[in-house]
Amino acid sequence: MEQEKKCPECSCTEFAQGTFGADSKLFPINIIFKPGKGSEVLAEICTKCGYILNMRVSKPEKFK
Ligand SMILES: [Zn+2]
Repeated sequence: MEQEKKCPECSCTEFAQGTFGADSKLFPINIIFKPGKGSEVLAEICTKCGYILNMRVSKPEKFK
């Protein structure tokens, strides 16, 4: 059964995906100066109040 997602702030059920943009990657802190590492951050945003439900990187394997 699929659980319906709800914004904890305003109970809105419409969400959008967001990102900081191509150059705003998140890097593992110990390899921040190595180019080619890092990953884009995807955020799930409530389209009503702007609350960010969760954030995740698109390539978690780069943080291993
Ligand atoms: Zn909301």
